[in-house]
Amino acid sequence: MEQGGSGYRVEIASNSRSKCKGSLCGRAKIPAGVIRFGTFVDSGRFQSWAWKHWGCVTPRMLKNIKNRLGEDDLKNTMDGITALPDEWIDKIIRAVQEGHVAAEDERESRKLGNEAKGNISSSKKPNEKNPMVPPKIARKTKRHHITTKSVLSDSDDEAEYTNSSEEYDSD
Ligand SMILES: [Zn+2]
Repeated sequence: MEQGGSGYRVEIASNSRSKCKGSLCGRAKIPAGVIRFGTFVDSGRFQSWAWKHWGCVTPRMLKNIKNRLGEDDLKNTMDGITALPDEWIDKIIRAVQEGHVAAEDERESRKLGNEAKGNISSSKKPNEKNPMVPPKIARKTKRHHITTKSVLSDSDDEAEYTNSSEEYDSD
């Protein structure tokens, strides 16, 4: 069956509808134009691709890829890879060989995850009462979000907490 192929596929997202299955980014949307990595899922009743940001691909997954596709011939075994720019082909092959994605890619995903966490803590309450929060109110709560977020991450980043609470008070 053509669609499943090797079971793995890498491509440039053609739309922004897919959501990442990774946890690093907080399951953020994968915007069109970025590299996404797919695992073919066949439940018997339906077939689909589960997509991840490249930076959200875990060492465990890379190990599975290596076991199934090998590391020497990825250009022939991984669907879609040859359609990518050379730098990405190299990057993907290197990640499979080394067993982890490049630090910069992981950092991108982690950043998305942190943004998502910030958004959830700021918008959760107003959204519960009123899911249609007008942009104006949403912007107002952003200030809260700085404090809320900082309180939450107080223990690992005290300096930031002090700064942003000052900012909050002075307003
Ligand atoms: Zn992700």
